[in-house]
Formats: sequence, C-alpha cells, structure tokens
Amino acid sequence: MSAALSIDSIKSQAEGLDFRNQAFIAGAYRDAADGRTFDCISPVDGRVLTRIASCGEADVDLAVQAARAAFEDGRWRNFAPAKRKRILQIFADLILSHTTELALLETLDMGKPITDSTRIDVPATANCIRWYAEAADKVYDEVAPTAENIIAMLRREPVGVVVAIVPWNFPMIMAAWKIGPALATGNSLILKPAEQSSLTALRLAELAAEAGIPEGVFQVVPGLGEEAGQALGRHMDVDAIAFTGSGEVGKLLLKYSGESNMKRVALECGGKTPHIVMSDTADLDAAANAAAWGIFFNQGEVCNAGSRLLVEESIKEEFLEKVQGVARSMRFGNPLDPETQVGAIVDQDQFQKVLSYIGLGAEEGAQLIMGGKQAMAESGGFYIEPTIFDRVDNTMRIAQEEIFGPVLSTLTFKDGEDAVRIGNDTIYGLAAAVWTNDVNKAHKMAKALRAGSVWINCFDGGDITTPFGGYKQSGFGRDKSLHALDKYTELKTIWIELH
Ligand code: NAD
Repeated sequence: MSAALSIDSIKSQAEGLDFRNQAFIAGAYRDAADGRTFDCISPVDGRVLTRIASCGEADVDLAVQAARAAFEDGRWRNFAPAKRKRILQIFADLILSHTTELALLETLDMGKPITDSTRIDVPATANCIRWYAEAADKVYDEVAPTAENIIAMLRREPVGVVVAIVPWNFPMIMAAWKIGPALATGNSLILKPAEQSSLTALRLAELAAEAGIPEGVFQVVPGLGEEAGQALGRHMDVDAIAFTGSGEVGKLLLKYSGESNMKRVALECGGKTPHIVMSDTADLDAAANAAAWGIFFNQGEVCNAGSRLLVEESIKEEFLEKVQGVARSMRFGNPLDPETQVGAIVDQDQFQKVLSYIGLGAEEGAQLIMGGKQAMAESGGFYIEPTIFDRVDNTMRIAQEEIFGPVLSTLTFKDGEDAVRIGNDTIYGLAAAVWTNDVNKAHKMAKALRAGSVWINCFDGGDITTPFGGYKQSGFGRDKSLHALDKYTELKTIWIELH
C-alpha cells in the first residue's frame, strides 16, 4: 500500500475483494458439515463482510483424518529438507506478492491501520516463513559423546498432527510463528483462526496449496473457540497444540489435553508489561515516545503492550507530560486511511470490555488524565480514544488485569529495587522494559525482572532470530528463533552398539 494512495482508492480496492469464507480441508474449500456459519463483522464500520463456515466436531474429524493421512504416507515429511525449503520459500514469495490483498483483508477484519498491515504484518509473515524454510536444511541432528563402541544419535522427528490456535490481534503473524517451524520440520498443521479474524488465514491456505504444499499438510478450520477449538483440543489423534491467546483459554487447553490423549500443549498467553523509566534516563523524549507507542500501537491489542508505566517519582510529572504529547500527536482514525496510526478495536465485545475497564479505573480511584471515551461512533465501528490513567496503585484491577486495549496505567516507584518489586508483582511474565543511563542498574534489573523478554533503553525489540514467550501465567514454550523447533519435534535417541 503506497502512502500515496488515498483513503478513497483504498476503499475502492476493498470493495473489489473476494472473501474466502469456507474451511480449507483436504485440499479444498468446503462448508461446515452442518452448514452453519457465523458473521464476519468489520470493526471499521460494523458491516457484515461475509459469513464464515462455523466448523464443529465433524469438520475437525475430517481435517484431523486428512492431516494424519498426509503425515503417515510421508508426502511432506519425507521430502528432502531442501525440497520443503523451496516450497515454503515459494509460499513466502506468494504472500509478499499478495501484500495489498492480504493487508486489506487483515485491516477490514480486525481494524488495524492499513499502513501497519502493509508494512508490518504481511512482510513479517513472509519473513517468518522464509526464515524457517531456510532453517529446514541447515539444522543438524546430534551425535552424543558416548563410549568408543557406541554411536548414540539424537534425532529430531516431527511430532505429527499439530494444531495452531491463534488470536485476532496479529492474525497472520501469530499464525506464521507456528506455520513456519511446524511445516519446516515436516508436521501436518491445522490452523484454527480466531472467529474475529479468519479472512487472512483462509486465503493463506489457498496460497500454500498454490506453492506446492501437499493436500492435508496445511488446513484451516474456522469456527468458534468453544466448538471448533474445543473439538481440536480434545481430539484423540492430535499430537500437539500450539496456542496463542488468553490465559483462561490456555488453561482450558491444558485440561482438554489431560482429559484426552495427553497431547503436547505450548502456551503463549497474556501480559501486563512493566515499562520502567528511571530518573537517570539520558533521553527522556525517546523513552516517552516508546512509552506511548508501547501501549497505543495496534490499539493496545498487543500481548506485550507496556500497559503499566512505572516512572521514578522525581520525574513523573515531566515524563507524563511528554507521553501525553506523543499520544496527542498520533493520528487516530479510519484504519483504511493510509495516514492512520491508531485504528479500531476488534469487535463489540472487546470494545465494551475496554470501556468497562476505563470505568473501573475511575471507580478504583485512579485519575483519568487523557481519553477514556468512545470515538467516531457515527462510523458504526468500534473506536476508543487513547487513554491514560495516573495515580494507579499496583493492587488495582487496571494494574493487574490484561485490558488488551489503548489504556495506560501510570505508577510511581522510589528506586530500582522498588521498580522491580512492582514490575514482578503480577501473574504475568511476558516482557519488561527499563530505561536508565546506568549500566549496572540495567544489568541488575534485567536479571531481576521475571519475564521472557527484557528491553533496555528501547521497547518491543527483537526479530525472528530471538525467542519470544513468557514466564509465569504468560505461558510456556517459545515462538520464533531455532528454539521454537523444540515445540514441533520429538527427540529420539538411537543407541547403536558396535560389535
Ligand atoms: P482467546 O483466548 O479468547 O482466543 C484465542 C483463540 O482461542 C481463538 O482462536 C479462539 O477461538 C480460541 N478459543 C476460545 N475458546 C476456546 C476453547 N474453549 N477451546 C479452544 N480454543 C478456544 O484470546 P483472544 O481474545 O483471541 O486474544 C487475546 C489474547 O491473546 C490476550 O490474552 C493476549 O495477550 C494473547 N496473546 C498472546 C501473545 C503471546 O505471544 N504471548 C500474542 C498475541 C496475543
């Protein structure tokens, strides 16, 4: 999407879009077995875009059977790794060559700014799949250092039928973090997109087939969480679930696994990231910029959003002024406008949830200093102003619970130790950030913060080479980097005695 395009030309491109709305099972699009559908509503304007197949147990059974057949006959896992690599590279190329279409689908479906879908979501999706494609023929197995008459080989084998259940905030990227490593290692993958955001997943299925990924190896089963999701979670012939979403559903998946076949479960769940700013920070403007974007990027619908801003008492007033200045400069509006930087909230439920947390913050005694209201009501879509609370106490619910919207809670602390104590006082442990000019403080605090990622003098840094995932109730297992391959492979020891 070139920045030169106007909102009108983008809207007319959107009008011409064709929506895939059926499940993609065993190499073909098909309706749900019982013919049910659910409405796909755009948060941009509240319009029904299409009706999507609402899959249930019968569809899940069909998909699992096709995935199992593909796995057993080796039509994918027995390809030379270099061949899997080439096909996945073609898939990545096809994603990039459909950037305009995929970006529009993502924006219409879940409300993020079109410029972000175009410049972030589509390229990151393609890059992730390409990176794991490259890894396919570069990661070696091991030989253990055993006695002279023994050869002990440690061999990585695909797990089998893998299910990816993903959320709606970065629909394609979250899917790619699982598609890349699962397919590169030879598994059959069934993707269950969130009901709020099925459109890009359904289109990706077709592009994967066009790239040459064989039938049954990559399937997409749309549907409601408690129906399609639960049926996958409880299925006796699914070997592993890779999940990204809320802790509540993560815990259900652990239960389903325990009550069915003990399938592997990897969980990437929520967060309540402390964004800590020490008074010795050299560049307070950069920190303020990061603090504002750290919560308002993607409308705050980010698992690692810096939703708790912890500022050293002595600089709080000055710093908060700067954060508000950055927030006021953000271009908030229709996600189809290429100038927009903060767009719509994914759906009516999430919109109500965020507004109710804003009401709760005020009731709990926090001071609302910016935003707090619905915006653009006349559009028919779901918009909430970037919102900032001051005087938040860490025991308040707005400091403890994941709001998953554009709401920043500001707290203060006395010194580094106090900041770490407050930062760690949460059930979550996905990420943390520290701004300081003191290298000793930076290292000590980075070690003391219980989180999967700690950013120093930046926010949300990282790329496909670095693992991402949580401590505590942010889940377990890691996406991205070669460490993600652990989730999709079994480790087999072959012990050979020489005579
Ligand atoms: P959610 O847990 O409501 O839904 C996630 C997925 O689970 C969806 O596909 C949904 O259909 C499915 N699901 C719902 N109920 C189910 C059930 N009973 N059985 C099986 N599947 C079921 O989460 P969401 O609202 O889509 O996404 C927001 C959450 O995702 C936030 O908590 C956020 O922090 C988290 N998230 C985490 C990461 C990470 O990498 N740690 C990244 C993005 C989002």
